[in-house]
Amino acid sequence: MNSNIEDNQGRVALITGSTSGIGKAIALRLSDDGFAVVFHSRLSVEKGEKLAKATPNATYIQADLSDQAQAKHLITDVLERHGRLDVLVNNAGINAMIPHGSLQDATPEIWRDLYEVNVIAPWTLIAESENALRASSTKEHPSCVINISSHAGVRPKGASIPYAASKAALNHVTKLLALNLSPDIRVNAIAPGLVDTPMTKNWVEAQRLWGEKSPMKRGAAPSEIAHIASMLVSSTYLTGEIILSDGGLNLT
Ligand code: NAD
Repeated sequence: MNSNIEDNQGRVALITGSTSGIGKAIALRLSDDGFAVVFHSRLSVEKGEKLAKATPNATYIQADLSDQAQAKHLITDVLERHGRLDVLVNNAGINAMIPHGSLQDATPEIWRDLYEVNVIAPWTLIAESENALRASSTKEHPSCVINISSHAGVRPKGASIPYAASKAALNHVTKLLALNLSPDIRVNAIAPGLVDTPMTKNWVEAQRLWGEKSPMKRGAAPSEIAHIASMLVSSTYLTGEIILSDGGLNLT
């Protein structure tokens, strides 16, 4: 629980891809921190509505972020329902498992699909919400964007080269926007290593790697990534940071 719960009353956070995994954990944590949260997903409407009903002041909105019109509409919809936006968490993302040496398998279609959801959609959501984020920003509570990237965007690793490159692009966008949206809007990224979510449930090799090689000897629970998001939101000063959260694997 956060000591600033009262401070956050009336403030609104949109977390994309928040009916499962890391996004759901962040949404529930920010709700515990006092925010009115907006759950979002591409498909799982029933799950989203159930989560919103069980969470105080929350709503759920469905939108396919690979479609620019739906991405823009998501922000309009949030503002119509809640009247403001203070925190945007770009968590929705897709992956593709392709051995790094299999260049022919990483087709231009796969590159485009990954860029559409992992880079262009976050860009559009930030651009569409810029005015609202500036309007709600105060010195005590500067508005905040968090991009969920990946350790694969920091180190030459990951499920595929197109995925890693899309997350590296998101990290660079994070720094460029931190420079350009300051001081009203802070922009940071969290770059998780292995996190135990539906996306990684069959990643036996990665689970073995983290279990044996990482200093923490395991992957992260979604709630541990949510804890970092909560810390970034409550900060009034951090901007342009890529918080590598891989249990220390990068040190090995
Ligand atoms: P997840 O599959 O549980 O969540 C992904 C979410 O993205 C889902 O809610 C899904 O609805 C949403 N999404 C996908 N395509 C979408 C689209 N076209 N439109 C709208 N929403 C869409 O997986 P997760 O592991 O919780 O992943 C969350 C984020 O964390 C992703 O960006 C992922 O790349 C990143 N990440 C995960 C790990 C990990 O080990 N799980 C590691 C590093 C980074």
